[in-house]
Amino acid sequence: MTTPDDDTPAPAPCPICGKPAVPEFKPFCSKRCADVDLQRWLSGRYAIPGREEDALGQDDGSREE
Ligand SMILES: [Zn+2]
Repeated sequence: MTTPDDDTPAPAPCPICGKPAVPEFKPFCSKRCADVDLQRWLSGRYAIPGREEDALGQDDGSREE
């Protein structure tokens, strides 16, 4: 997901629709896309009841807290 060329000043495009992201909804282009991503994230997180073993192998590097 991340690229080695991380020193580029260009903002990353919205991961939902690909439009240029805006600071207000970074890294998304709008609240709508941010909400869409949030729903996906929550779905992927809570749609798997009692599968902690799988959870350990699901680390996709998204640690941006
Ligand atoms: Zn978007």
